[in-house]
Amino acid sequence: MKKRIFSGMRPTGSLHIGHLSVLQNWVKLQDEYECFFGVVDWHALTTGYEDKLNLKELTKEMALDWLSVGLDPQKCAIFAQSQVKEHAELHLLLSMFTPISWLERVPTYKDQIQQLGSEGKDLHTYGFLGYPLLMAADILVYKAAVVPVGEDQIPHIEFCREIARRFNHLFDKVFPEPKELIGEVPLLPGVDGRKMSKSYNNAISLTASPDEIGFRVRQMVTDPQRIRKDDPGHPEVCVVYKFHKIYSPDVTTIEQECREGKIGCVACKKYLAENIDKVLAPCRERRQMWASEDKVEQVLAEGAEKARAVAGQTLDEVRKVMGF
Ligand code: SF4
Repeated sequence: MKKRIFSGMRPTGSLHIGHLSVLQNWVKLQDEYECFFGVVDWHALTTGYEDKLNLKELTKEMALDWLSVGLDPQKCAIFAQSQVKEHAELHLLLSMFTPISWLERVPTYKDQIQQLGSEGKDLHTYGFLGYPLLMAADILVYKAAVVPVGEDQIPHIEFCREIARRFNHLFDKVFPEPKELIGEVPLLPGVDGRKMSKSYNNAISLTASPDEIGFRVRQMVTDPQRIRKDDPGHPEVCVVYKFHKIYSPDVTTIEQECREGKIGCVACKKYLAENIDKVLAPCRERRQMWASEDKVEQVLAEGAEKARAVAGQTLDEVRKVMGF
């Protein structure tokens, strides 16, 4: 039997190429594991409860992004968290024995309160304090053995293991302790060199057309010391080069030609745009196929059904050992 994986993303709007390596990793995993990929729409409310988000549309948009990268609903379950109510029930039951101090010491808790507080958001809420527990419920409800995450998420998985251990100790051994699977996620800057983010308007969207890719790449910050085409360059300070390292197979040649002043920045950018387009063109094609046949709702409905079948079994066990 294949091991199970759960992973999810908050529906925060269309994805950009900074998310691509995570999704490409999911595409690989769907062949090796029994995968549950959730658009975690309730999580979006833990920080964005005042934002009047259209979560239904944002969820569909995110599922479409995932399908465009190559997730295959025949191989994995793609669903909205809010359509599998077992996540909420398990969250509630786990909350009965979760010490508040465990939640308060999750590293992201204080950091985010401070960071988002300075942006005017009040996160002194029950929902925000409890979001790592909701995340634990998301994982445990599938008895996931493995959770693909970035390094910054490791404390959440450790917290999830602690919850599993406490449950198994208090009631009965129901939950396996999930392990993190750290994917290699190269950190791509935005075109202006800051963190890539839709809110900074410095990202290349997964849906970008060849013209949009070209436009964004032309905006990329290069080596400021290069004035003339034959000036020796310093690729290590250039945003274009950081992208070449991921998207261009002949990156060593590019580095050498830049250092020796044998390639101009205009040509170098044009070449990068072509290489990015080679990766995004198949995504655009798949996206069109899924969007034009309006199948996303069906994918989400079938995914939720698959997810409920597994989550329901777990809840049956949980209720029984808890005395219901
Ligand atoms: S040649 Fe390419 S890598 Fe070198 S500074 Fe210009 S854009 Fe950057």
